Formats: sequence, structure tokens, C-alpha cells
Amino acid sequence: MTTHTVGANRGDVVPSAILGLLGTRGPSSRADIARTLSVSPATVTQITKELISRNLVEELDSVPSQGGRPARLLGLVRSAGGAIGAKVTADHVAIVDVRLDGTVQTSTSQSFDPTSPDALDRLCRILGSAVEAHEGQLFGVGVGIPGSVDTQGSGVVDAPTLGWSDAQVGPMLRAALGVPVLVDNDVNTLAAAERIYGVGRNHSSHLVLTIGRGIGCGIVIDGNIYRGANGAAGEIGHIPVSDDGPDCACGARGCLEAIIGDAALVTEATARGVLGQRGTTAGLLKAARSNDVAALEIYRNAGAQLGRALAGIIHTLDPEVIVILGEGVSAWSFWEQGFEQSFRRHLMPSRRGIPFVVEPWTEDQWALGAASLVLGTPFDASGNSGEQGRLVRASFHSATIELLL
Ligand SMILES: [Zn+2]
Repeated sequence: MTTHTVGANRGDVVPSAILGLLGTRGPSSRADIARTLSVSPATVTQITKELISRNLVEELDSVPSQGGRPARLLGLVRSAGGAIGAKVTADHVAIVDVRLDGTVQTSTSQSFDPTSPDALDRLCRILGSAVEAHEGQLFGVGVGIPGSVDTQGSGVVDAPTLGWSDAQVGPMLRAALGVPVLVDNDVNTLAAAERIYGVGRNHSSHLVLTIGRGIGCGIVIDGNIYRGANGAAGEIGHIPVSDDGPDCACGARGCLEAIIGDAALVTEATARGVLGQRGTTAGLLKAARSNDVAALEIYRNAGAQLGRALAGIIHTLDPEVIVILGEGVSAWSFWEQGFEQSFRRHLMPSRRGIPFVVEPWTEDQWALGAASLVLGTPFDASGNSGEQGRLVRASFHSATIELLL
């Protein structure tokens, strides 16, 4: 099991780390908390006493422990608070309001035109309504953007697919909402969610690969999301794979995404007569399910291209496991027919056993990932969330200073 080291000189982190741990792992004993956070049992006893007195944590049933007295489990008080997550796309904003334990209270979608001159004002209004509707304490707002973001705590965005360059998303939202705001690349938000709720519990280095409209990759190394110098790491959809390939929306040509992204698959299916002029991804999937030979071949080839590119990433980063997510996983059984063989064949023999997990996809997932930027802040050992992360941690327990060790 991965431990979350909070460090002896970061006493302010311990109370929020305890809340974060109970939120992401569920009820735990004091001994488990001490072990997982690498802090002393006495510290955990002292801080949980305080958290209980503030009605953030409650004592639950006892469970048998090895020898000795039964251990009392601690859990979150369900009304202890929550976060809002939003994912911005080219035509809508998806929003979830979640409790500290990640359960979704409400899920909504608002139409959105990122190219309109007042797009950021409209985003502020959409999220302002969500903040207003939130009941109980709000720890912060997380926002996922399909583009590069300088840092989570700053939130300055370059997103060609939205027509945004140097967009002041974080500063504008912070001024408008009056709560901590964390902004990140949308694939990184999924990686943040995996880090606290998924494979990240057991693996400190993993990749979160998304297929669908875009091809992306969140990189988690030693428990932290790797962002690169400009917040643009993991853009594996723009690995050049063909000299004479089609132009890509990023401005380059022959990129992986321009060949196996949703739009490219539909274009190819149209050219091959699988789909009519107004064909969609859903139509292509339907054709594959009906055993249309050309449709099956389109997916198989896409899987093979993805497998080859991913093998190169494995050799570069050496992760323990890969998680595959995104709208495209509904067609994974067809991708896999090309992927599995190509992926293993292009790996060095010593790395061929690397496992990958394909997870089911729900519409909420992007926005939930954005909310987990906030809920995972207590574990942000890298400090990437900066001042906003500190504010989130402070709001996790309103009087941090009294708890400093
Ligand atoms: Zn590209």
C-alpha cells in the first residue's frame, strides 16, 4: 500500500490529510491512519479528538483487531463538506457537487461557447450558481480544461481546441467565486482521481491514458502528477507517427490523435463507406457491433497505432500500471484486437508483462476528476496547488493554527 508522507514540518497538513484519507478510503482505525500517513499514533489521537469535537469526524462501530481491544473506526460526518468539480468542453460545461467522500450530490450540464468574447464571464456565472447552490461547507472548486495549464494554483490556460490562449481562468474564477479554485488539464484531473480513489492507492507510478475525442495521458510518478515545464506533459496524442499524415488541430501534422482520435476514425469510416456524410462515433461503434468488416478494421488499426505509441512511453517512463479511460472505452473490445498484440510486440521483453486496466466510463467522470483536485489536496506533497491548495487545506479544518504541532 502507498503511504502518504505528510512530513514532520508540515503539521498543518495532518488534519486535512486525515479528513482526506477518511474521505478517499472510507472508515479507518486510528492505527491505520497513523500507519498510512506515517505520523505517530499520539498525533493521530490528538488531532482526531479535535476533529471529532468540531463535528467533522465521528466514531463508528468497532472492528476486531489483532490481539488487544477491538479498534474503533473513525468516519467522516457526512455533512462535513464537499467540493465542486467542472469540466469545460467546446460546447458545454459539466458540473458535479460532491461530498468529501466523493459521492455525487448533483450533476448538471450547461451549454457553453468558449469562443464567445464573454466566455470567461459566463464560466464565472455558471460556477457562481453552483457555489450558491452548494449546501454546507465548500472546500473549493476544481476545473478541468482540455489544454495546458501553468499550475493548478495559478490556472492560466492555453487550449487551442477552445480557442483560448493565455486565458486567465484561475484568476477570474477566484475573484468571482471567493473560494479556493484549482485548475488543471482535464486528463491530469482524471490522474488526480485515480491517485486518491483508484490504482494510485496501490501504485505510486502509473499512467492514465484517455481515448475518445482526444488521446491524452496523465503521468503520475512517485505519487505526484508530472506536469512538465509548461504544464503540457502527457500530450501523447501529438506524438508524430506519420510523415505524410493529416494536419492536426495542434498545428503540427501526422499526430497520433489526427489518425486515431474520434474525428479521424469517423472521417476514415466515411471515406470507406461505413458511414454516411453525417456519420458519428456512435454509428461507427454500431457498425462494428454488427461485424462490419471495415469498421472492425478501423478500430483494430487504431488499437495497433495506440499500442505502438504507448510502448514508447512505457520505455521512457517505466510506470507500474496503465489505466485506460475516456469516452472511447465503450469501443475498447474492438480497439483491443489491434492494441494487445501491437503493444506487447513493441515492448522490450522485460517490460512485456506490464498490466493495463480498462475502466468503465460514465459521463460524470471528467467533472468528478476536477472535484478530486480539491479533495486530493491534502495529499499534494509536490506543492503544485500552491497558495490555493493551502487555502483548501485551511478550509478543511477552519482553525489550522491551533492544531500546529
Ligand atoms: Zn497534434
